[in-house]
This record gives sequence, structure tokens and C-alpha cells, in this order.
Amino acid sequence: MLDVVVVGGGPAGLTAGIYLARARMDALLVEKQSPGGAPALTERIENYPGFPEGISGFELVDRMRRQAEGFGLRIAPFNPLLGLRVEGEEKVLETEEGTLRAYAVILATGMRPARLGVPGEDEFHGRGVSYCATCDGAFFKDGVVAVVGGGNSAVEEALFLTRYARKVVIVHRRDRLRAGKILQERALSHPKMEFKWKKTVKEIRGDQKVESLLLADVEGEGEEELPVDGVFLYVGNLPNTEELRGVVELDERGFILTDADLRTNLEGVYAAGDVRAGAVWQVAAAVGDGVRAALNAQFHVENLKGTAYI
Ligand code: NAP
Repeated sequence: MLDVVVVGGGPAGLTAGIYLARARMDALLVEKQSPGGAPALTERIENYPGFPEGISGFELVDRMRRQAEGFGLRIAPFNPLLGLRVEGEEKVLETEEGTLRAYAVILATGMRPARLGVPGEDEFHGRGVSYCATCDGAFFKDGVVAVVGGGNSAVEEALFLTRYARKVVIVHRRDRLRAGKILQERALSHPKMEFKWKKTVKEIRGDQKVESLLLADVEGEGEEELPVDGVFLYVGNLPNTEELRGVVELDERGFILTDADLRTNLEGVYAAGDVRAGAVWQVAAAVGDGVRAALNAQFHVENLKGTAYI
């Protein structure tokens, strides 16, 4: 039986892994994609302390991975979580590679982009509809792209897209952005950026690929068609907790409820990072969560084994 299984390889999971490996816990991190989580797809992270010039998201999380593996953390590349149950002191995880048993589990499964839920979104996914500017931005060289949303993700990724597109139009349902002030300043003063305020996307239109958006006025009946080559959707996020429903306590939006020590309602099961209710969705905060969850999981395991240093 393992000491700890960490589920998810973003900043929270990798940080937990670094601490567990250094504590010489028999720990395994499972991650279905390559480790890194959402920040791995962020072109540049400017608010993670210690990197005054900023650092590419991929490089930051790759450094975390190398640090964890350098201390001996094992990372298994398979679908980490198909089910979780508790049998006495044992936490039993069903994965696509079989069953894992551990004294403690840290759930750090993160979140994924929400869908907008309009006609054309599924049909043109991969043919002009994208949720990842870093992945797909280069396909729109000299084109016109729209970015839907007004949060940090939308504005950050819209700024990134100005490298390729000749015009980037932010479509937002309000008359001002939600994103942090420094991003707002850059976007509002950028010569390639335009804004469609108080508009929602009613439909994504095209033939073989995206050709236009049908925009509706938030107030009133007005509609307009905006010709675009592509559209990037940043309208919020959903927690990756489908397999945990009915197992651990979730809030009404599906994020995992914890106490201040990041304990879930199941003894020995912790949650860390974006998937935790109340998370502030910052890499630095996810790292802090990873530390706290790892220290508490370690203490839990050592108590069970009678090896705690008290
Ligand atoms: P977010 O902050 O929830 O913003 C989502 C945006 O989409 C909002 O502007 C929202 O409008 C809009 N929206 C939601 N549903 C919509 C709909 N049905 N139709 C049209 N617009 C819709 O999500 P996020 O930008 O992905 O950020 C998530 C978290 O990660 C945030 O806490 C953010 O601060 C953090 N983050 C931080 C950084 C950074 O620090 N640099 C970078 C990326 C993300 P309203 O404004 O009207 O609600």
C-alpha cells in the first residue's frame, strides 16, 4: 500500500509531490495528461513571485516536475481517477490502469474551460473554435479573431493573440473588463484590439470553418454579424470532479469543500489548488495549497503508522 496518492499534476499536485518526496513518503502522482495543468498552456506568467521578467507557464511547471522527480517522486501517466472509496484506513482509487491503495489522497484535479453553449460551438470546435490561444493562436496569422469573456484569461490570451492576428475583438457582456488592472491597461491601449461591449454570442456561424459570430445586445433586441476567422472562448471554468460526486462533499458548483487544513469530509483525503472551493485560482496559491495538503497528509500517514514525530 502506498503512503499518498496525489491526483493531478498541476502546480498544487507537483508541489505536494515535492514535499512528499522530500519527506520520503511512498508517494505516487497520477496525471492523465503530461504534468503541468492549466498553467502549462499559459504563454507567460508574470505574477508568480521570484520571476521579475515573467516565465513561460510551461517552463514554470516543467521546473516543478523536474524538482519533484529529482527528489524521487514517481509520476504515472494514466487516467488518475475513475472512482474513490474508503475502506477503513485505506483509500481505494480506481484508475484506468487498475486499483491503487493508499493511506492518504490529495485531490488536485484542477478545472477546465466552461463551454459557452451556443449553436456552432461543438460543430466548429477545432475548425475555428478554440479554448487555448497558446495552442491554436498561430493558425490565425493575419486573421481576425474574437475572444469571448472579460476575465484575466480572456484578456491575457487576447493580448497573446495580437502576435498573430491582425485584429483581436474582445466580446464581453458588460461595459468594462473583469481582468486585473494591468491587463486592462495593456488591452485597452493596444492598437490591434477592439471591443464589443454589452454583447453576447448567440451563434457561431460558418460553412467548413468559422466565418462569423452572431452577436446580440445584452440590452434590447439588436443583433449584428461579426466576421471572424476564429473565436477563443474564456467564459469561466468547471471543476474536474465528475467522478467525485457523491463521494466527497462538493459545493453547488462542484468544487471540493475543505476545512482550513484542506481536509475533505473523508478522513485522509485532502483537496488542493483550483479544484478546492474558495481557491483564488492563482499558481502561487495552488503552490501554497500543495504544501499544506502534503504536510497534513504526511502527518495523517505517520499517525496511522505510528511514526509521527510529536
Ligand atoms: P473568470 O474570471 O470567471 O471570467 C470569465 C469571464 O467570462 C467573465 O468576464 C464573465 O463575465 C464571462 N462569462 C461567463 N459566462 C459567460 C457567458 N455565458 N457569456 C458571456 N460571457 C460569460 O474566468 P477566467 O478569466 O478563466 O479566470 C479564472 C480564474 O483564474 C480567475 O480567478 C482569474 O483571476 C484567474 N486567472 C488569473 C490570471 C492571472 O493572474 N494573470 C490569469 C488567468 C486566470 P462577467 O465578468 O460578466 O461575469
